[in-house]
Order: sequence, then C-alpha cells, then structure tokens
Amino acid sequence: MAIRDIIKPDNPILRKKAHKVTNFGSDFQKLADDMVETMIKAPGVGLAAPQVAVSQRLIVVRLPDDEESKKEYGDQAGVVYVLANPEIIKASKEMVEGVEACLSIPGYFGKVDRHESVTVRGQDRTGKEIRIKAKGWQARVFQHEIDHLDGRLYIDIASDVWREDEKDDADEETQPDTNAQQPTPSQD
Ligand SMILES: [Zn+2]
Repeated sequence: MAIRDIIKPDNPILRKKAHKVTNFGSDFQKLADDMVETMIKAPGVGLAAPQVAVSQRLIVVRLPDDEESKKEYGDQAGVVYVLANPEIIKASKEMVEGVEACLSIPGYFGKVDRHESVTVRGQDRTGKEIRIKAKGWQARVFQHEIDHLDGRLYIDIASDVWREDEKDDADEETQPDTNAQQPTPSQD
C-alpha cells in the first residue's frame, strides 16, 4: 500500500465526472488499498478516487472508532467501506444541516444540508453488488463522496463557507450549538 497525493480544486480531474469501474483487477485492488491508507493517514472519514487524481467511480469510507465515536456510531465505527460505482437509490425527505470539510480543500469548513438517511447501492471490491443503509453522519459522508464522482464539491452547495481560523471566536460567543448530534467536523 502507498499514500497517494490528494489533489486540490486547481486540478481539473476533481471537477470531471468519473468513469465507471469495470475492471476489478490488480490495479483496482491497489487503488482501493492506497485510498484506504491515504484516508486513514490524512486523517479523513472518506475519500473518492478523483481526489487522488484517478477518474474512477470509487469511494472509501471509514468512521473513526475512538471511544467517543463508538458511542456515536455504534457498530458502524471503524468499519471500512470500499464501494465502486455507488449510487443513492433512496434518500430520506428529511434534510439535516451539518458542518463539512474536505481533504481537497484544506483549512475550510462549510454548512451543508444533506439527507438524514440514504440507501446506497454499489459494488464491493470483488464486483459483487451490495447495498448500504446509512444514516446520520455516515449518510452525510456517503453523499459527500458520491458528489466527488460527479465533480461536485461541498463548497458548491454549502450555505456558508469559512476558513478554519475565521469563525472560532464568533462561534464561542454568539452561536448556540445547533449541531449537538454532530461530532467535530471530519475531513472527507
Ligand atoms: Zn471531499
């Protein structure tokens, strides 16, 4: 396995619609391994292949499994998903606002509305079809990563974007904690 470089929005690959994965051979297996390693090292909770300059419809997702996260995510904490050709086939009407960041846009955060729960269909690393029902933070990560496959970034749909060092004071003094159910924003 190897750590890959994460590209920034100045690289046009990040804005392209990625190609369907059709070959689950050794190059694909290496890419999946490298992406998991790169995501964990970053650290992030999700990574899409275009972020490592590969225009393929592949995402990896892993919620952290420290003690706090285990309480928050239960048996989803620490589970690694490698998902090719993911599609959202069902989404809750209920939308929730949350704070997101992206490994391709370091130092920034944004407020984004996402479906509270989604069902994602895709293929595992052997090519077998799988379905994942995700809710809460995990559902958010899947939506964020799948957006990457269509060249969409969270800053395109965020209601507010700010720099990491900009909002600290204002947050503490004037903003109620409206996202008590959300953990500290994780980069994906
Ligand atoms: Zn991202």
